[in-house]
Amino acid sequence: MAENYPSKTVAFIGSECYPFVKTGGLGDVMYALPKALVKQNVEVRVIIPRYACIPEKWQNKMIYRGAFDMDLNPDGRRYYVGIMEYIEDGVIYDFIDNQEFFTAGKPYINLIDDIPRFCYFSKAALAALNYMDWAPDIIHCHDWQAALVPVYLRTLFADTPIARAKTMLTIHNLRFQGIYDAKTMKWWSGLPDYVFNMDALVENWVDANMLKGGLAYCDCITTVSNTYAQEIQTEFYGEHLDPHLRFHSGKLRGIVNGIDVDIWNPATDELLAANYDAETAVANKKLNKKALQESMGLQVDENKFVIGLVSRLTNQKGLDLVNSIIPQIMDEFTQLVVLGTGDSVYEDSFRYYENQYKGSLCAYIQYNEGVAHSIYAGADAFLVPSLFEPCGLTQLIAMHYGTAPIVRETGGLKDTVEPYNWAENTGNGFTFDRYESGLLLDAINRAKELYFEHREQFDEIVVRDMEKDVSWGNSADKYLELYNQMTQ
Ligand code: ADP
Repeated sequence: MAENYPSKTVAFIGSECYPFVKTGGLGDVMYALPKALVKQNVEVRVIIPRYACIPEKWQNKMIYRGAFDMDLNPDGRRYYVGIMEYIEDGVIYDFIDNQEFFTAGKPYINLIDDIPRFCYFSKAALAALNYMDWAPDIIHCHDWQAALVPVYLRTLFADTPIARAKTMLTIHNLRFQGIYDAKTMKWWSGLPDYVFNMDALVENWVDANMLKGGLAYCDCITTVSNTYAQEIQTEFYGEHLDPHLRFHSGKLRGIVNGIDVDIWNPATDELLAANYDAETAVANKKLNKKALQESMGLQVDENKFVIGLVSRLTNQKGLDLVNSIIPQIMDEFTQLVVLGTGDSVYEDSFRYYENQYKGSLCAYIQYNEGVAHSIYAGADAFLVPSLFEPCGLTQLIAMHYGTAPIVRETGGLKDTVEPYNWAENTGNGFTFDRYESGLLLDAINRAKELYFEHREQFDEIVVRDMEKDVSWGNSADKYLELYNQMTQ
């Protein structure tokens, strides 16, 4: 029957995907967007490496789909490409298996190792699609690790069945581009000499940039919010690719991310002390606050204003601003819970402050999904003061858990958090514009003032946040619209 035919066929190619392997927002998107698209009758295959670090629970569920050998670099060796498959919620996951490339205990090692791995992966993903005789309408690639896919497609794969596909390349974070010296890249990728020119892969005359090449060769570029799509065309946010992006701006679009509301649902979340919906939030968040305070070693007191922060600890996330005002934030009415790992300078400073403000400040320096859930549910406010933020998922999750975001007006933070308007009693959170610690402090103080002196209005923000639609539905519609335009 006609309605059973997929409206489109799409291959997602990227380096991580929840729940198999995730280091940040990319992993969430690679999981949630395909799931949302399947609901719109799109047929989706997700192709990621079969890292040895994928938990055994998932490895055991994969079934062998086939294998072949592939050439890669000029040394003439044939490289094994295995395809392991797993299907869930209508999404087909194909894992590219190669023991030589993917045995490390983590998805990324360092550029010297990662450049060959992701050259291999990008080429193997296309070869696997041909092997499976599945030539989709769209090949949707993600970030620099899959950015060579459009380049391979229009060169070495130009005369193969898969070449019928149109390509979309999504930038989840422009900071990471996959840059290495052109000679090494040329050798490992096996790509023809003519793609190593200043309009495509080459920059500075000596280096090759995988993302830059992909941006030149793909049919459509997207990034994860409208504001970031504009920002990356400027020098400040452009990470030196702004001239290239301005040149290609005709095919650049911004579509904001959503969150998977099956996983992130305070009404059913089994990791919470008490479940709640918009109606029960104000009462039940107190129980979650108590549980959070107990488990984090904070003074148990429902009247404290608890601020949460869940983040990679890097300079992108505005942690310099946070660190410089902690003494001003930490009055007797306020508690701060930080969950994150990353640069040692931030790990150490948060540990230092934990010691300084025992019982009021907790620095949980780990990657821990369970603790993340309890912070989203138990905090009153949530900090995301990023220097830049392509989209940001944590403010979306926080809002969905009725926790008021305090964010800098940049990238997706600007597009998703409407500032609280005192006169009209509207808005979802507290915002500031310039990257200055005084302005962050001011935003925190505005949140505190509302919480302590006008609790009713603060509670209305909680309810508005929970009622805001942050699911993937709208964004999946927009992707589908773009897929349709690309294949007209
Ligand atoms: P980015 O991709 O830049 O790291 P995002 O806001 O897009 O930032 O996504 C971050 C995701 O990673 C969120 O799902 C957040 O909950 C999760 N996360 C970040 N740090 C931790 C941590 N230490 N423990 C658990 N989850 C974390």
